[in-house]
Amino acid sequence: MHELSLACSVVELVDNELHRHGGGALRTVEVTVGDLSGVDCEAFAYSLQMILDRRYAGVRVALTRVSPRARCLTCGGMFEPASIYTPCPHCGSYSTQLLEGQEFRLSSLTVEADEDKP
Ligand SMILES: [Zn+2]
Repeated sequence: MHELSLACSVVELVDNELHRHGGGALRTVEVTVGDLSGVDCEAFAYSLQMILDRRYAGVRVALTRVSPRARCLTCGGMFEPASIYTPCPHCGSYSTQLLEGQEFRLSSLTVEADEDKP
């Protein structure tokens, strides 16, 4: 149910953004999800699409996944960690910094302007 509540909060953001821009037809909602964010992408995309379908006809959900990237603070090596606890594969150090992979954000909305409006 975690994914459903995430989807609800994204829809709230979408509603606010649309309201601020004075409406229009919502076409695409893009969300960026890091592979280490703990979000189940499939369940999330499904929930989001389901809620959006009820409010906005013809909207498409697009997820952008981000592969994790970390830097070792001991040897400076870069690597792709399997989890946030993965040690550096170059020197074995646990002193690492995750640079990418935990993001979760609404990245963009595509809105078609209402042509009836001046
Ligand atoms: Zn290292």
